Amino acid sequence: MKKIAILGSTGSIGTQTLEVARENGDLQITALAAGNNIELLEKQIREFHPGLVAVWKEEKAKELKDRVKDLDVKVVCGMDGLLEVATEPSSEILVTAIVGMIGIRPTIAAMKAGKDIALANKETLVTAGHIIIPLAKECNVQILPVDSEHSAIFQCLNGEHRSQLKKILLTASGGPFRGKKKEELKHVQVEDALKHPNWSMGRKITIDSATLVNKGLEMMEARWLFGVEPKDIQIVVQPKSIIHSMVEFVDGAVIAQLGTPDMKLPIQYALYYPDRKYLPGDRLDFWSLNQITFEKPDMENFLGLKLAFDAAAAGGSMPTVYNAANERAVAKFLDRKIGFLDIPEIISECMAAHKVVEAPTVEQILQTEAATYDMIESRW
Ligand code: NDP
Repeated sequence: MKKIAILGSTGSIGTQTLEVARENGDLQITALAAGNNIELLEKQIREFHPGLVAVWKEEKAKELKDRVKDLDVKVVCGMDGLLEVATEPSSEILVTAIVGMIGIRPTIAAMKAGKDIALANKETLVTAGHIIIPLAKECNVQILPVDSEHSAIFQCLNGEHRSQLKKILLTASGGPFRGKKKEELKHVQVEDALKHPNWSMGRKITIDSATLVNKGLEMMEARWLFGVEPKDIQIVVQPKSIIHSMVEFVDGAVIAQLGTPDMKLPIQYALYYPDRKYLPGDRLDFWSLNQITFEKPDMENFLGLKLAFDAAAAGGSMPTVYNAANERAVAKFLDRKIGFLDIPEIISECMAAHKVVEAPTVEQILQTEAATYDMIESRW
C-alpha cells in the first residue's frame, strides 16, 4: 500500500484526494493537516485512520483531541504540527493541498525527509521555485504536479527530451467574466466571481480564475516545474477547458492532453505515477463535442495576468509580492471590503513600491509577504 500524507485535507483538493483513496482502496493515509474544519477532519480520521493529524490553532486541536479520544491518533498544532505531518516517517508522498505560502516550510521539510511531493500548493513554487526545484534534485525526490494544466504538460512531456521542448501552451478558460471590459467588471459581485464556468474549486482559487491571476500564478509555477522562460509560455484561452494544456517541440509538433474537467484525474495520476488506473466518471465524446475554440487572453481588461508576467520578469522577491498582495486583496474582496478591480490595482501598487531581493531565502520570502500584508493593511 502506498502511504500518503495530506496538508489541507478538508479543502477542495484534499477532499478529492481522499475520494481517490476511497475509490481505489490501496492508499494508506498516514497523516492529515487542516486549518479550522475539525468536524470534517474528525470524519476523515474515523474513515481513514491516520496516526497523526495537525490542526492550525491550539484550541481547535484541543477540541479535536477530545472528539477523537476513543481513537489511537496523535493531534498536533501550529507550524510544528504541519512540519510533523509533512515528515511523518512512514509516508512516501506528501500532497500539498494547503492554500498559501504557509506551504513552503512543510514542503521543504518533506523533501529533506525524502518524500515525493504531489504539488497542488502553487504558491510554494511561485515564490520559492528557485529553492524548491534544486532541492528536489539534491534530495532525489519527485515533484508531481496536481494542478490540471501542469499535470497535462507533465503527461505531454512523458518520454520526450526536455531539451527539445520549444514552448508551453498553457490553456485558460478565461473565467466567468471572459469578454467583459473594465467598465463592466467594476461592479461585479462576489457571487458572480465565484461562478466558475467549468471547475468546482476552493473560494480563493475561484476568484483567482475570475481575475486571471490564477493563470499568472500557473505561468510562474510552470516556469519552475518545466525549466522554461516566461516568454516561452503562451497563454491560450480555450473556454470549455477540454484541452488541459499543450506543448510544442522544436520540430513544430504540438502534443495536448484532453479530458473532462475532473481534478481527480491529475490527483490520481500524481499519486500513482507512472501508472494509470481506471477512474470512474464522464468521458469525452468527440462526436457531440464538435468544436474547440481558442482566443488570445485579454491582458488589458484583466491586468492580473499582465502583472504576473511583470512579476516573473522582475524575478527574485517580486512574485512573492504579487502572490501576497493578491491573497490579501482576494480576502478583502470576499469580505466585500473592496471591489473586483481593486484586486489588480492593489497588486500593482504593492509591486511598484517593492525593491526586489534577488534569490530570496525562505526567511526573506516570508518577510516580503509580511511587508506586503502590512502595506495593504495600512492603505486599504
Ligand atoms: P481550499 O481553500 O478548498 O482548501 C485549503 C485547505 O488548506 C483546507 O483544508 C484548509 O483547512 C487548509 N488550511 C488553510 N490554512 C491552513 C493552516 N494554517 N494550517 C493547516 N491547514 C490549513 O483550497 P483548494 O483545495 O482549492 O486549493 C489548495 C491549493 O491547491 C491552492 O494552492 C490552490 O491554488 C491549489 N489548486 C487548487 C485546485 C482546485 O481545483 N481547487 C486546482 C489546482 C491547484 P480548513 O478548511 O480546515 O480551514
